[in-house]
Amino acid sequence: MKRKHCYSLLLLVFLTCILASCSTISFTNHYGQKADQQKVFAIKDVHVITMNAGSEVLQDATVVIKDKKIVSLNGPIPADAEIIDGKGKWLIPGLIDMHVHVPVDGHFNANYPTHTAVVFTSTQDVMTPFVANGVTTIFELSAKAGHFGQRNEIARGDVIGPRMALAALIEGGDGPGRIANTPPDGRQAVRMAKAEGYEFIKVYSKLNVATFKAVVDEAGKQGMRVVGHIPNSFEGRVEDALVPHFDMVAHAEEYAKQSKDLSDQDAQRFARLAKENGTWLTPTLTIMVWAASQARSLDELRALRSLEYVHPLIQSKWLTANNANKGTGPDRVARLEKIIDFNNRLVKAFREAGVPIVAGTDAGCSGVVWGFSLHDELELLVDAGLSPGEALASATRLPAGWLGIDSLVGTVEAGKFADLILLDANPLKEIRNTRKISGVFVNGRWLDKAEINAMLSDLAGRNTAARNKYHWSKRGEY
Ligand SMILES: [Zn+2]
Repeated sequence: MKRKHCYSLLLLVFLTCILASCSTISFTNHYGQKADQQKVFAIKDVHVITMNAGSEVLQDATVVIKDKKIVSLNGPIPADAEIIDGKGKWLIPGLIDMHVHVPVDGHFNANYPTHTAVVFTSTQDVMTPFVANGVTTIFELSAKAGHFGQRNEIARGDVIGPRMALAALIEGGDGPGRIANTPPDGRQAVRMAKAEGYEFIKVYSKLNVATFKAVVDEAGKQGMRVVGHIPNSFEGRVEDALVPHFDMVAHAEEYAKQSKDLSDQDAQRFARLAKENGTWLTPTLTIMVWAASQARSLDELRALRSLEYVHPLIQSKWLTANNANKGTGPDRVARLEKIIDFNNRLVKAFREAGVPIVAGTDAGCSGVVWGFSLHDELELLVDAGLSPGEALASATRLPAGWLGIDSLVGTVEAGKFADLILLDANPLKEIRNTRKISGVFVNGRWLDKAEINAMLSDLAGRNTAARNKYHWSKRGEY
């Protein structure tokens, strides 16, 4: 039941294709053509946390941005540049959330037990919370055709949103979606996902051993990296699941499930196995914390400020049909608290073993609000033992590398896309400072604080209006 709260489901992913072979991800070639992106900007006197391999920090630097790209660091300022005063501020790369579930038009998500179709007012409304929080790249882990449409809207410049990497989820059993229960079906599912344009494969919990291995192997052959769950069929034999090309395990609790006593010894054993196999980890600590919170009561969720940026029908689902809360009791709470404790020790063990850890949230699950939650995750990673610099790397350079787009985003360097966050305070001192956003560049488009606030209050207003409307309507009409 531990993952029941997350209706998302599907997929994991494995495999390590050579980075070069992944570097042609098509979403990197989609850029909007709005006027703002043609403008020249110069951020003056700003402290630049480059997040490059040498962890360089430039004091009082000038960053010039033109045609969506960073043109220079401490180079000349073009005469036509719009000047942004960076005095006393800090510039970091735009953040990457490596585990999200974005609602697509017409329905929330086929894999979510939603009882009603949700009609969204616009793609912009689901993307605004990301860009308002400086999240400029997202990894959608149960991608559907509708996500290509969203990506195109962003690419055309009609919507201000993050870059989107899309993973197709392959599951075993007999549910809806991409189901495979034999190795040939598994291989075919991978090839079809590739033909449909997905760049990554997510493996999920009900795949049998042979099919899982076939999926991972085929993904390797197709140059698709694999992320996802450790299937239940590997219970007690995690070492058999960590095969070449299983590139990343999603959720620390996928390892917790594999430990009888949740011991440090197991955490260290898993870390060794992951290190040997080159399997990265997205701990998604925030989703477990929310699961425990909701198992106790829904009070914290009800009081969540960012709830106003969630579509009212999703709010309603979270508050009135909450699987984490339904039928809860002290046993469930105690179990979840033990897993949270283990997850933290697992992160420590993986860090010590040198396994790359990347930040992901499972945004879209109840309580985990798009964009806002990534800052929670960074904080939790630091609480679990990462330094603030390591936490920042987990949401910038490292995931860019895993996705194969590190030549384009993930650091503040000349030639890269201008996905940037201007902060009022230094996040290397205190990771919570990533929330002190003064402005965001997304694909070369500048959103200052006032514009971000306007977008957010606009969205909150629309959600309130929609809630009132739904309140007077019968569910069935939607
Ligand atoms: Zn998920």
